[in-house]
Amino acid sequence: MVATTFLDGLLLDIRANLATIVIVDTFAIWLIHKIYTSDKTAKANLFFSAFSLVFLVWVNGGFVFAFSTDLKFAEFIGKVILADVIWSFIFLYFFLSHFPTERGRSAKGDFLVLVSGSLLSLLVIFTDEIVKGSRFTQWGVDPVYAEQGRLIYYIYIATLIGSSLFQMLREYPRLNAVQKRKAQLLFFGLTIFLSANLVFNVYLPISSGSIKYWQFGNYSAVILIFLAAFAIATRQLLEVKVVATEVLTLAIWVTLVIRLLGSSSSFDVFVNVGVLVILIPFGILLVKSVKTEVEQRQELQKLTQKLRELDVRKDEFVSVAAHELRAPMTAIKGYISMILDGDVGEIPEKAKDFLGEAITANDRLIRMVNNMLDISRIEENRLVFEMGLMDLSEVVTTAYREYKVQAEQKGLDFRLHIEEGAKAMVNVDKDRIYEVTSNFISNAVKYTDKGTVVVSVLTPNPTTVRFEVVDTGPGISPEEQKKLFQKFYRTESNIGKKLGTGLGLYISKLLIERFGGRLGLSSEKGKGSMFWFELPLVLT
Ligand code: ADP
Repeated sequence: MVATTFLDGLLLDIRANLATIVIVDTFAIWLIHKIYTSDKTAKANLFFSAFSLVFLVWVNGGFVFAFSTDLKFAEFIGKVILADVIWSFIFLYFFLSHFPTERGRSAKGDFLVLVSGSLLSLLVIFTDEIVKGSRFTQWGVDPVYAEQGRLIYYIYIATLIGSSLFQMLREYPRLNAVQKRKAQLLFFGLTIFLSANLVFNVYLPISSGSIKYWQFGNYSAVILIFLAAFAIATRQLLEVKVVATEVLTLAIWVTLVIRLLGSSSSFDVFVNVGVLVILIPFGILLVKSVKTEVEQRQELQKLTQKLRELDVRKDEFVSVAAHELRAPMTAIKGYISMILDGDVGEIPEKAKDFLGEAITANDRLIRMVNNMLDISRIEENRLVFEMGLMDLSEVVTTAYREYKVQAEQKGLDFRLHIEEGAKAMVNVDKDRIYEVTSNFISNAVKYTDKGTVVVSVLTPNPTTVRFEVVDTGPGISPEEQKKLFQKFYRTESNIGKKLGTGLGLYISKLLIERFGGRLGLSSEKGKGSMFWFELPLVLT
């Protein structure tokens, strides 16, 4: 097969191997440097650096071993690598017991691992119990194992890996979401690395007696190192983007450098240098811009979080202030009423007028404070509703009557339209739904200076009741319509001219949504507005 021959050719090619080693080394050392310097005191970072470095010795040693031309030298290198592999897994074991969380470990267990690892390493390097020697093969040098020694060696490594994985699995359910994501990354890296090694460095050598394809097992270490570094470094998902861009840029540069080193003609050199010169500043620019973007996003996240906290504190303040204001205002109302009722004797007409005004103003304040308290109660789900079946038409008729005098005084054509035969039974809190309808009607009357205000109850379809207030008032621009149902929002044209708080529509929205309905408006500046809400019709 052509593909196999080509692959075999590549695997045997010392230059291809050297190039891969250079990429793996550069990348891994860069990661180790980044992780180690990010927090020198973190034990997880220390063990990460340790296991990655030992892995690198393994990967580089494997290369030297496979391409050795001197068997004695190869035997020595082979033994060093096998001892190094033991320490790779020991440091990995320690790393996993510190990451994603610090696990409670037994000092005895750690001691056992260290002592047995040291003993086995000594056996590997200084005796022929594990490795007897090396031999030349078609594809390079192979180690020659002592059968029993190999078994002991594999069992030791398998036990280390097994207990590392066992620890991880046992810990997993107790991790929080971010730690779980980190653990998953590690699992993923370990799975790739361990399966590649099981197949190419354990299964194939045992079944076919050769370590041909050792590259796949060894070089896959870089995936584990990368994913582990990734897991450590990402506090947030956003940082993934920066790391990915850095990796990509670095990969492009390294590839280009390798191409440059392998250039066969001066023209090649010229082209490769040219491409490199162009791509280096571009790479820097790319990484910088992604970094800036991510930093801005992180800044934004922080600010949003801060705003949310401030919002909560503001709500608390409003709620406490409203609560504290209500009692004195109710007292004022009580005392003024007593004076008006003649409890302190006869008072002049003029004083009565003034006191009347004071009561009206005070009532408005009480209403406003009540609104603010209602809002915080609804928002925090503390408001208890007295739900019951009622005819919306009746509620609307009452509210309509309440505003009739005021509308007529303003000279408005004020009409009520209840669809004939309309069954308008809804399941709501009576006082609250009255509040909403009367808010819509009072707004229409308040903001309309001339023309008509029509209040209607309709059944647009068999499952819905619709309440509508159509006026020929000032209308609201599309931009302002979007903000209308927000807390404290009032249209520009009304601020300072008409009395109001900008809370009515916000409360209406909260209430109607609680009752399972929807609400909205359509309006055109200068022509008028239609405010509506719809509730599910209860069939009786
Ligand atoms: P308030 O009336 O106390 O200001 P609302 O929440 O009821 O508070 O109304 C918010 C704003 O919406 C009002 O200040 C007003 O600018 C605008 N608005 C409400 N209803 C109408 C309407 N029918 N026509 C024009 N503008 C309206």
